[in-house]
Amino acid sequence: MTVLLPGSTLGVMGGGQLGRMFVHAAQRMGYFTAVLDPDADSPAGRVSHHHVQADYLDEIGLARLSGFSDAVTTEFENVPADALARLAEKRPVAPGAAAVAIAQDRAEEKAHFMRCGVPVAPHAVIDGDEDLAAVGDDLLPGILKTTRLGYDGKGQVRVTTRAELRTAWDDLQRAPCVLEKLLPLAFECSVVVARGRDGAMVHLPVQRNLHRAGILAVTEVHDGCVAPDLAQRAVDATKAIAKGLDYVGVLCVEFFGLQDGSLVVNEVAPRPHNSGHWSIEGADVSQFELQVRTLAGLPLVQPRQHSPAIMLNLLGDLWFRDGQERTPDWAAVLALHGTHLHLYGKASARPGRKMGHLTITGGDVAGVRATALDAASRLGIAPF
Ligand code: ATP
Ligand code: MG
Repeated sequence: MTVLLPGSTLGVMGGGQLGRMFVHAAQRMGYFTAVLDPDADSPAGRVSHHHVQADYLDEIGLARLSGFSDAVTTEFENVPADALARLAEKRPVAPGAAAVAIAQDRAEEKAHFMRCGVPVAPHAVIDGDEDLAAVGDDLLPGILKTTRLGYDGKGQVRVTTRAELRTAWDDLQRAPCVLEKLLPLAFECSVVVARGRDGAMVHLPVQRNLHRAGILAVTEVHDGCVAPDLAQRAVDATKAIAKGLDYVGVLCVEFFGLQDGSLVVNEVAPRPHNSGHWSIEGADVSQFELQVRTLAGLPLVQPRQHSPAIMLNLLGDLWFRDGQERTPDWAAVLALHGTHLHLYGKASARPGRKMGHLTITGGDVAGVRATALDAASRLGIAPF
């Protein structure tokens, strides 16, 4: 494929915040952008040169997107793989439909991890009553997860007994599921990797993640946030997973660090990831610029983190206090040195909805932590 130089148009399937930050990165570098999203008021559609308002499988919409675009990427995991395959008949598409299809299905994803020799949580695939009956006691207590369409902890139920497992499966409409053993987590981390068409790979440093109620709350990236040997294992595993998928584009792998010092892969996102947002201000190449570079066929250079960084997710909960809707006190956090506010332009706040994020950078880890804790307290985010 020839290199698409600035002045070309880059298309993206999906108009959420990841698409918005991709569009920002692409436009900064002199590209035009086109977004396909069914919502008239999507975060990325609002800032893109072109917005195709259509369903993801709409023939005319897909034709319009490929008409505008010299190449197309995706910003959300559940973009129909068929739509990507359709687009690929006309334009270069990265990541490809086959890799996205694997990431969309927890059972296939785990099978891929095992093929790559990367450890996964003990689990069983639940497709029918006989699978339920065959579940070993060693998988309980566990988490029952639908194989498809889960995000931010949705489509998951924690179960302790077989009776609870049966009820939980009924509650999930007996959809295909994976039952995972509940693991004793010491910490969680993730790695963002970018892989070019020639197989070259670069990555961001390992990110330490804190989840609350199944949703990412805080990401910290600095020396010592993950022990160096574990960090190296996570990077090696991420690269093996990307290579095994023959992946082109940006991909993020989430890991569990267990109390016995072992590392287990959780899942893969075939796109930039919430835990990589810090790279916009904390590194000299962000995950979104990496996505632009992989899509356009530009050279990949290893990003350099130039500042310790902490990212706080700004969930819709912050827009409510004592049952009253309010606007968080942005002026109070922007008074702190090294705070970078991102709001995604979503019209209405709901508890659990990702409305924006705040990245804190600075000269040293202690200072960044102190500012992040101060900002959290000013916003009403629990300390971490
Ligand atoms: P997202 O797509 O937003 O990352 P998700 O809905 O796909 O989330 P998972 O990543 O599978 O969900 O799980 C969400 C969180 O639940 C994990 O980050 C972890 O904190 C916890 N969790 C999931 N599986 C396990 C497990 N087997 N043992 C212990 N904790 C788990
Ligand atoms: Mg996850």
